[in-house]
Amino acid sequence: MPPSLIVHGGAWDIPDDAVEACKIGCQRALEAGWTVLSSGGHAMDAIEAAIMALEDDPVFDAGYGSHLNLDGQVECDAIVMDATTLRAGSVAGLHRIRNPIRLARAVLEMCPHMMLIAEGAERFAAQHGIALCDPENLVSPAEREAWLRCSKDSHAAEHHRGHEQGTVGAVALDVHGRLIAATSTGGTCCKLPGRVGDSPLIGCGCYADAETGGVSSTGYGEAIMKVVLAKTACDFLRPATSTPDRAAQAAVQLLANRGKGTGGVILLDKRGKPGFAFNTPRMAYGYVAADASFITGV
Ligand code: ASP
Repeated sequence: MPPSLIVHGGAWDIPDDAVEACKIGCQRALEAGWTVLSSGGHAMDAIEAAIMALEDDPVFDAGYGSHLNLDGQVECDAIVMDATTLRAGSVAGLHRIRNPIRLARAVLEMCPHMMLIAEGAERFAAQHGIALCDPENLVSPAEREAWLRCSKDSHAAEHHRGHEQGTVGAVALDVHGRLIAATSTGGTCCKLPGRVGDSPLIGCGCYADAETGGVSSTGYGEAIMKVVLAKTACDFLRPATSTPDRAAQAAVQLLANRGKGTGGVILLDKRGKPGFAFNTPRMAYGYVAADASFITGV
């Protein structure tokens, strides 16, 4: 089976001056994941490599450089899901994990539960060889500056729009037909401490089912939850007449109509065919085309 990979770096009103950095970030994530997939590696390793590249890039809202919450702290959520087993590993409310995707994977592979939060999740990380970091080390200068600007003006919404991009996600299919999807985020900027969005919720921020495909969502979490966006997009892949792009578009249409929200999805169908859609001004995305060339866009 030919491998396949698609990634995103968030769907928002990405400002002009961040477009190039978002494209480069998606390109790097494709390179990291494709190195694994093209040499016959496991989709889970490809997902971890791709998402870590995005988490480490401060232009994206995940890992280092995440948006700060109202208290001025980074608070991350992440999920990874295996389409074959329908098992997920999900983590939320993390303050001390540099690469939340690594912890989500550890939960999927080594925990009897599928979702851990806050201190309990960080304790599980420490027990499974994932180092805890100083919370300050997750704060980028740009996000601190943006947070200070927001704080000085009672967190007026117009400040948030300028630095809202971008949750990250990826879906990979390997040569053995293993399909994995994942999402990682710092959540919305200046969120209430303790707020958990759609991203780490199975079926909302991410879903993967070998009978349909794998999806990662991004956008306004409170609306995405209403329509269980990722699972809904997977279900839209089920009819024989559906195509990946049409399924993605139908899911985003539902997000707009019933959820009254904005956002986007990336997906691979069960054979690895990519599709995506968004109803925000922009979404950062990248995928590997059938001729193995990398396509990125914002
Ligand atoms: N969906 C994320 C959340 O609400 C934000 C995003 O996708 O940018 O936490």
